[in-house]
Amino acid sequence: MLGHARFLVGKKVPLAHSRCLSSFSPGRFDPYNALTATWDVPTGGEGTLGGWSVSIKENIAMEGVPTTCSSKMLETRITSRNNCDELAMGGLNKHSLFGPVANPAPYEDVSNPDFTMYRPRAPGGSSGGAAAAVRANLCRVYVNVLTARSIGTDTGGSVRLPASYCGVYGIKPSYGMISRWGVVSYADSLDTVGILARAPEDLTTTFDALASPDPHDATCIDMTMRAKLAKDVSSIVSRLQKPLHGLRVGIVAEMFPKELHPEIAEITDDVLDTLQRLGATLVDVSFSVLSKASSAYYATALSEASSNLGRFDGVRYGAHYEKPQSTFFNTIAANRSANFGEEVKRRILLGTFALTSEAWKSHLRTSIQIRNAITHQMRACFAAPDHRVLSQERSGADVDLLVYPTAMCPAPRLDEETASEYAQDVLTVSANLTGMPVLSAPASRRVPVDNERLPAGISFQAQWGHDQLLLHVVETLARNSDVLAT
Ligand code: GLN
Repeated sequence: MLGHARFLVGKKVPLAHSRCLSSFSPGRFDPYNALTATWDVPTGGEGTLGGWSVSIKENIAMEGVPTTCSSKMLETRITSRNNCDELAMGGLNKHSLFGPVANPAPYEDVSNPDFTMYRPRAPGGSSGGAAAAVRANLCRVYVNVLTARSIGTDTGGSVRLPASYCGVYGIKPSYGMISRWGVVSYADSLDTVGILARAPEDLTTTFDALASPDPHDATCIDMTMRAKLAKDVSSIVSRLQKPLHGLRVGIVAEMFPKELHPEIAEITDDVLDTLQRLGATLVDVSFSVLSKASSAYYATALSEASSNLGRFDGVRYGAHYEKPQSTFFNTIAANRSANFGEEVKRRILLGTFALTSEAWKSHLRTSIQIRNAITHQMRACFAAPDHRVLSQERSGADVDLLVYPTAMCPAPRLDEETASEYAQDVLTVSANLTGMPVLSAPASRRVPVDNERLPAGISFQAQWGHDQLLLHVVETLARNSDVLAT
C-alpha cells in the first residue's frame, strides 16, 4: 500500500498556499463554470424524487456516464456533472481540470452575473460546482422544477463550506447513513455523501430517498440500527413542546475563535437568541482537544488518500502518458506526474510521508489518539447515547444538539491570496472525525464586505445517527422565525 509517492516524478511541488488565481472564465454550460456537462434525459421516475432534477458531483459514479473527478487522470468528453476540486481535495474549488467555479451569491440576477461589478468569489470546496448550481438554480434550465438540488461528498467540510459560501442548505449525514457506493474514495474513514438544496424541506425529501441500507456498501447502517435511531429521535421530538421548548442546545467555546469574522459571530448569536426565544435552553460546552482537529484531519485524510489514489496508474485506471517509458514503473510515474494536478500530488507526497515508519508515531498514531479524544468528548455532551459504543460517559451537559458557525469568514475572491486553503475548514473537520451529522443553514442576515453582502452558514450538529433531528429543528426554526434564508 505504501510508496505511491515514488511514482511521481518531474516538477517540484510547491508548499501549501492557496494560489492567487485570476484566470476564471465562464463555463460552456453556465456562467459560473459550475456544471461540467449536461444532458437532456427525461428521468420521470415514480419515486419521491420523481420529476426533480438533481445534479451530481464529478466524483460520484452514475450509470452510463463517465466520472472524471475533475481530474485529467480520468478525463473524458461527455456528461452532465458538477465541477469540483480535483478528487474532492480542496476548500475553494480552484483545483479542477475544468477550471475554477464562481460563486453566484453576490449577483442579484443569478442568470446574468456582472463579473465586472463584483469580481468572482470562490464558491467554497470541494463541492463548489454543486453549491453554485443550487444557488443559481441551474437545474431549472434543463428540467421544469422549482428548486435545484445537488448531491456532493463531504470528507472534511466539502458540502458545508460551499453551502455557507453560496448561501444554500447542506447536510453532511452521519457516517454510514447514506450509501457511498459509486463514490471515488478520498479518505474512506471520513467520506460521506451529502445533499445541497435551497430549502430545508428539499433536504428532507432527498435525505429520505437516499438514507437506507445498501447491500453494495457494507459501511451503510442496517435496518435494526436505523429503527433504534428513529426511536431515539422521535422520543426527543415528542418531548419538545411547540415550537422548540425543552430543546437543549450546546454552544461550543472552541468554535468561536478570535479569528472568527465578527459579523459571523453576531449572526450566530442572532440564531442562538432566536432558538432561545422559541423555547430552547442554551448550555455552554467546551472540548479541549478541538484545536488539534485540523492537524488530525489532514494527517488522516492524506494518508488514506495516498493509499486510495495508488490505483490511478494509467494502466488499469486513468489517463495514459503518450510516450512509452523505459520501464513499467517509469511509465506509471510518468502517467501520474502528467495527469494529477499540483494539489493532489502535494497531498500524495504528504500522505505517503505520514505513513512511513519514521513518521507513523508522530503523525498517524497521534492523529488517531486526537480523533478518539474528540469523539469521546463530543459524544459525552449529548443526552442521547451514541449507539456505536456499548457504554459512554456523560459530561452532564445533556444537550440535543450543538450550534456554531460553519466558516470563519465569508467567501474570498477567486483572485485573492488566502493565507492557507487548509484553514478554510477548521470548523467543519471535527464532524467527519467523529462521524456525527451536521446541517449547515444559511442565515438570512448577510455579511457586509466592501459593497457586497455575502452569505454565512450556521451549523447544527447532533449525536451520531440523529440526522432527522437536525432536519426537524432546522425546518421548525425556518418556519417560526426569519433568521434563516429562504
Ligand atoms: N477541504 C478539505 C480537504 O481538502 C475537505 C475536502 C472534502 O470534504 N472533500 O481535505
